[in-house]
Amino acid sequence: MSSSDYRDIVHLEYTRDGLTGRGEGAPIVRYHEDAASAQRAIDEVAPILASADPAAFRQTLDRVFRRMGDQWAAKAAIDLAVLDWVGQRRGLPLYGLLGLDPGAAPITTYSIGVDTPETTKKKVLEAAEFPVLKVKFGLGRDEATMEAIRSVTNKPIRADANEGYKTKEEALDRIHFLERHGVEFIEQPLPAERLDDLRWLRGKVNLPIFADEACLRAADLPKVAGAVDGVVVKLMKTGGVLGALHMIEMARTLGLKVMLGCMIESSVSITAAAHLSPLADYADLDGNLLISNDAWEGVRVERGRLRLPDRPGLGLRARPGLKPPSI
Ligand code: MG
Repeated sequence: MSSSDYRDIVHLEYTRDGLTGRGEGAPIVRYHEDAASAQRAIDEVAPILASADPAAFRQTLDRVFRRMGDQWAAKAAIDLAVLDWVGQRRGLPLYGLLGLDPGAAPITTYSIGVDTPETTKKKVLEAAEFPVLKVKFGLGRDEATMEAIRSVTNKPIRADANEGYKTKEEALDRIHFLERHGVEFIEQPLPAERLDDLRWLRGKVNLPIFADEACLRAADLPKVAGAVDGVVVKLMKTGGVLGALHMIEMARTLGLKVMLGCMIESSVSITAAAHLSPLADYADLDGNLLISNDAWEGVRVERGRLRLPDRPGLGLRARPGLKPPSI
């Protein structure tokens, strides 16, 4: 689940009254979603979307989503396309529709995958523009990875173990190591279901712990509260922007920090997540920077800071020279 060379993405266009909203979903195989199941779920509700009043979009999405079961990437594709359309219709960028200040968008980390020490050093040097790095640990090479990074930079690191430590004692030892090397916090040190061990661990370390795989949506928050300091919110887990908004608000109610994250996605959904980012404490929104066939431009990154487009809706523009994918 930590990375993949390519990923199926479902693209969606929602056209009404001469305006087209765009959405996409990146199905997560672990949760029994794939491109075919996402497409089927979208096809089933398309007639409702086509006939419903788009001005009442929250009710429409609520009605549609209740028919879609656990097809979260498909829900995200619909949510993004409809919100892009509504924003265009009202002449407001998505952050404006949500009442957010684009100047408050945080910096995003840049991800350094696990690799040989030489390649790791090279990747860190290539990420010169980014003030904070996100690094994968938990694959049995923590020392070598850290040594390679620290030989070329002292930048702060945010660690993601992707459930890689198998016991709470191993996680404790590894986190003490990471604490000594300028790591700000760690995501998902233990397997998702091991919440009691996570709670034990949190009582023994200073490093804040974030839940990613252990917490997919708002409904999961009560069970992780107390076991972690924060949660990773991803549009493909929440089923889009409205689900993410709900999760962020509930996380705040429970006293949890929020990081906005992503899967490998194009600028369509990364831009949507970036519009929400003024509400987050941290952002890890580099999925579009890690693919070579991004057909859209939307959010930009300047010295690590997310710069939101001020065009209506998601504010996407077709990237010159690259044909946007057809549906
Ligand atoms: Mg993660």
